[in-house]
Amino acid sequence: MNFSTWIPSTGSSPAICTGTHWMPGTGTLIPSYSPVDGKKIGELNSASKVEYEIVIEKAQTAFLHWRKMPAPQRGEVVRQMGEAFRTHKTALGQLVSYEMGKSLQEGLGEVQEMIDICDFAVGLSRQLYGLTMHSERPGHRMYEQYHPLGIVGIISAFNFPTAVWSWNAMIALVCGNVCVWKPSEKTPFCAIACHHIIASVLEKNSVPEGVCNLVVGGREVGEWLAADVRIPLISATGSTAMGKKVAAGVGQRLGRTLLELGGNNAIIITPDADLDIAIRGAVFGAVGTAGQRCTTTRRLIIHESLYETVKQKLKAAYGQLRIGNPLDQQNHVGPLIDTDAVKRYIAAIEACKAEGGRFLVEGAVLSGPDFSSGCYVQPCIAEAMPQYRIVQEETFAPLLYLLSYKTIDEAIAIQNGVPQGLSSSIMTLNLREAELFLSPEGSDCGIANVNIGTSGAEIGGAFGGEKETGGGRESGSDSWKAYMRRQTNTINYSRSIPLAQGIQFDI
Ligand code: NAD
Repeated sequence: MNFSTWIPSTGSSPAICTGTHWMPGTGTLIPSYSPVDGKKIGELNSASKVEYEIVIEKAQTAFLHWRKMPAPQRGEVVRQMGEAFRTHKTALGQLVSYEMGKSLQEGLGEVQEMIDICDFAVGLSRQLYGLTMHSERPGHRMYEQYHPLGIVGIISAFNFPTAVWSWNAMIALVCGNVCVWKPSEKTPFCAIACHHIIASVLEKNSVPEGVCNLVVGGREVGEWLAADVRIPLISATGSTAMGKKVAAGVGQRLGRTLLELGGNNAIIITPDADLDIAIRGAVFGAVGTAGQRCTTTRRLIIHESLYETVKQKLKAAYGQLRIGNPLDQQNHVGPLIDTDAVKRYIAAIEACKAEGGRFLVEGAVLSGPDFSSGCYVQPCIAEAMPQYRIVQEETFAPLLYLLSYKTIDEAIAIQNGVPQGLSSSIMTLNLREAELFLSPEGSDCGIANVNIGTSGAEIGGAFGGEKETGGGRESGSDSWKAYMRRQTNTINYSRSIPLAQGIQFDI
């Protein structure tokens, strides 16, 4: 595969970008290997504190200019970025697939999400509205408005190596902020490609250096961002362990966080489910992206009357799965991100067995010429109990737990009985069950679906989860408010100065 416009064939790639200008890093060497075939994609030196400081200073200066540009004009720049992603959709989708390991369809889908969020942000750039209120004082007008925050730090995970940045950056940009992106060190070239793609748009529109910044590095760069008082908002996507550290660091300085962390998502299958929809939703949810979506279906909560039927249907469906090179569109399941992820998959299977879990479809690490990267695993299914320690955890791999229930209240209690609260769904044609699931007594997750699996959110809705998923909301609806500061304004156009609450203060 040839990505030579974005990745040098020899030597180290620049790791830092301030829009149209690139700089090499002087930190540690980061090689990127494809989990697809184990080949080296390229390498770069991570940003050191010196380059980091240069970027933040440029971002601070750029903000002073960018915040003055009318929001619809900022939206026009974002619109052109969306066009640039359209132009490069195939190549970028292939790179996402090759560096991260997701199927080509999902790689292209990820770029489509970037295009969609650009479109959404363009419309939003004319709708950053506040409310007006009636003042209790005569001759007064009261309203609220939203202003940009400044620098938005974006820390992203490997599994959505481009889309998560765009969800944050495109909204933050139309709101008048400047961005500093620290991508996952496991997928640096996807981030570098994105910055190459938007460079021509920034240049054409004379956008100052420092509005869109990229700083590639390891967790230390994330720690610098979290501790930096010059950065009012940190949006961090990744594991709950990472989110707790970032929240503590940013909280220490009373900054704001937007946290998108781990999930442990479940589908409830009730006796009134359309089983065809339920099985398709469950299988795609469990094995899509090789189980490496934050919204991957990890638990199936099945009514006891259907349990055996669902088991057999799942076994048959898993038997049809084709595992292999994700760029080959015949295959359903690609590799895990690296061999450390494979070790965690094996450890989870062993832990499940040690707690009493029985495997309906056994897990395995696949070997042979097609699996030379050592990252391909067999999606597996275990019969388990809700309280198993391993069932309570997110294992970022295609490991699905089957749990049985008797009553709908019990099913909802099992669904909610984990520390995470991202995505959930119920498969039922029964209105009472569906509405109960969506009621305050139902799912405690940020996303609750009916007759749709747990993964595959659209950008129009606010995306995020509760509890250890971190509470953040990104992308659609009114998520933009997280990227702005609200100001309440009261204007007195009368000839006196009455005080609120009727307080008298005569001098
Ligand atoms: P990770 O937590 O290992 O890393 C995520 C990012 O955080 C990386 O850029 C990493 O360098 C950085 N980081 C790590 N430790 C840090 C620290 N102490 N301070 C600052 N930055 C730090 O996660 P991952 O393995 O890349 O991604 C998988 C995880 O991400 C899963 O738990 C998945 O559920 C979660 N995720 C959540 C969402 C969501 O929207 N809720 C979306 C995608 C992924």
